[in-house]
Amino acid sequence: MDRERVEVFLELFRTEPPLYIREMEKQAKKDHVPVIRRGTRDLLRYLLRTKRPGRVLEIGTAIGYSALFMKECLPESSRITTIEKVPMRLVEAKKNLAKYDPEQRIRLLEGDAVEVLASLVSDRENFDFVFMDAAKGQYLNFLPLVEALITPGGVLLSDNIMHEGDVLESRFAVTRRDRTIHGRMREYLWELNRNPGWETICLDLGDGVTISTRLKEQTGSEK
Ligand code: SAH
Ligand code: MG
Repeated sequence: MDRERVEVFLELFRTEPPLYIREMEKQAKKDHVPVIRRGTRDLLRYLLRTKRPGRVLEIGTAIGYSALFMKECLPESSRITTIEKVPMRLVEAKKNLAKYDPEQRIRLLEGDAVEVLASLVSDRENFDFVFMDAAKGQYLNFLPLVEALITPGGVLLSDNIMHEGDVLESRFAVTRRDRTIHGRMREYLWELNRNPGWETICLDLGDGVTISTRLKEQTGSEK
């Protein structure tokens, strides 16, 4: 099926997000900020509206687009924590959050995600929904920290698992720098699909996503 035709078709049924979200999307496109694609946005909306998690964690804020979109999908009592390390992005994110989240339901934490996640673990924080959307080569490093933070039954959504289709290619077909990301992303997918603590589905949606549910403590050896 032609991808573009599929997009046009799906657009017919898509409900429009608030105007400011659509404007942020336009701006992001103009500035080449890699925000979530429409398909991923639909999936986030569906999961958040049905699951209604109280505490959401996002790794990779960029300019705050997906964090603000998630807020629009959540009950008023829900809170979002989002992590970003790049100063230029932080400036934009702060501007957008000040403007569109005056009630401060979104908490922006600055710094490298590995360090910030570790400090959340030592503060004994918990989350029932995690959106992983930062450096693809680091997902594998984030995973044990996410495992320490996520509650049983919690959901982990990981974006860009296909890395623009690179992950599908033979490792020799990608450049040296991308080869590391390529291998590490494959390892991440392997881990999510083999680790008995997770139940995972890989979806060919947007740039590829996985939905993983953190399984409750098992009594036997069976999954
Ligand atoms: N979720 C956003 C897009 C995020 S783009 C949206 O859809 O609106 C990925 C972001 O992750 C970038 O802004 C990048 O600076 C940030 N990032 C990458 N590696 C990171 C790390 N190790 N710690 C914190 N942020 C990181
Ligand atoms: Mg993404």
